[in-house]
Amino acid sequence: MQLLVLGAGVVGLATAHRLAAEGHRVTVLDAEPAVARGASAANGAQLSYSYVAPFAAPGVLGKVPGWMLDPDGPLRFRPEADPGQWKWLLAFIAACNPTTAETTTRRLLLLSTLSRDLMREFVASAPFAFDHAPSGKLVLQPDAAAMEAARRQMALQARWGSVQQALSREECVALEPALAGIAPRIAGGVFTPSEEAGDCRAFCEGLAAHLARGNNPVTFRLGTRVRQIIRAEGRVRGVLTEAGVIEAEAVVLCLGLGARALARPLGLDLPIAPLKGYSITLPVTREEAAPRLSVTDSQYKIVYARLGARLRVAGMADLVGADARLDERRLSTLIRLARTAFPAAGEWEGPLEPWAGLRPATPTGLPLLGRTPAAPNLYLNTGHGALGWTLAMGSAAVIAAEIAGRPPPIPLEGFRVAS
Ligand SMILES: Cc1cc2nc3c(=O)[nH]c(=O)nc-3n(C[C@H](O)[C@H](O)[C@H](O)COP(=O)(O)OP(=O)(O)OC[C@H]3O[C@@H](n4cnc5c(N)ncnc54)[C@H](O)[C@@H]3O)c2cc1C
Repeated sequence: MQLLVLGAGVVGLATAHRLAAEGHRVTVLDAEPAVARGASAANGAQLSYSYVAPFAAPGVLGKVPGWMLDPDGPLRFRPEADPGQWKWLLAFIAACNPTTAETTTRRLLLLSTLSRDLMREFVASAPFAFDHAPSGKLVLQPDAAAMEAARRQMALQARWGSVQQALSREECVALEPALAGIAPRIAGGVFTPSEEAGDCRAFCEGLAAHLARGNNPVTFRLGTRVRQIIRAEGRVRGVLTEAGVIEAEAVVLCLGLGARALARPLGLDLPIAPLKGYSITLPVTREEAAPRLSVTDSQYKIVYARLGARLRVAGMADLVGADARLDERRLSTLIRLARTAFPAAGEWEGPLEPWAGLRPATPTGLPLLGRTPAAPNLYLNTGHGALGWTLAMGSAAVIAAEIAGRPPPIPLEGFRVAS
């Protein structure tokens, strides 16, 4: 089939890879002049296959006021005139209950496990490097109550196959000696040996180059903004771009946040909001002072990942509209917290490659996958929120199965958009 994949972030590229491997003729379109210029550019780098529990969890609403008042808090909210933001917030609040959070976690674990298996298969023969490291992940908990909640989540996920260990403060430091500095403010942590990390942008660039010269080469039309999806007689016929019409037998929307605007005229009101986050990346100058494991500081919701000789630090969740500009105050908070945690890891006064990105977040945390009610040949693969890097390979496999008319590799209940 002649297919259009809209979007050259990690989700679009993973989708193009899968579809080309199944023999389709694939063209990837993106408004930007290069791949991975959106949310996939400099994310937290975590391939977080076991940490998929959604942000919309039972305890979250009670914590929000404290986070908002704390200048170092992980969350910011700026009310917008956009009714979509309010609708999203109400749906988010409605999802903050134990039943929904548990169901979402279970569904996401199925998708992340599929992703993990496909990523490992790919890495075994990947023709390019992306600082991929199967380092394991340690999630630090600030106090006994947080540790207890983490144990409960561990017990829940153990039923679904996650292998994790609860560690005391001393055991955390023994496992990751670079934590000595922050040890006094942690009660313990949960270690998941199977978690991985990797540079998402390097992956995207390597994959795009690989796809362009493969046996069944993928065509890239970068710097091409899509203005409209063309539908006639109930089927999608192609897209209208700045460079004219491009026809296709089927279209896959992997536009992250951009999916909302293009889907709306087709009667699809996609529940995706921009959840802004920040990252910095610094060269490691003292090996023993920087973590080798992926580390999550759950008090401040900051993640640390080693990318070869660099340390990536990412965090913050700001619901402040579709504005990807760097907010100097938020950035300096991130830098200060990271520097306090790992003061000797690198040159904190040097270039830190500051970046801000917009997570395409759904209220529940489930991405929107599969065929749409708008047309039988229009597919969604978007709304991956804080987990797009983790879930890209599995989501691509879901779309390939849908297009081929095969049963999906995981149940799609909860992932499909309703009519
Ligand atoms: C601070 C931060 C930390 C994160 N950390 C992690 C992490 O550790 N692990 C993890 O798994 N995930 C993480 N994420 C989430 C992850 O980065 C995203 O979920 C993922 O990048 C989404 O990929 P995507 O391909 O759907 O979207 P994008 O990468 O945003 O790609 C969408 C593409 O669509 C294009 N586009 C949009 N509209 C149009 C149009 N009209 N015409 C043409 N092109 C268009 C854009 O130019 C863009 O290239 C993080 C995100 C942030 C912001």
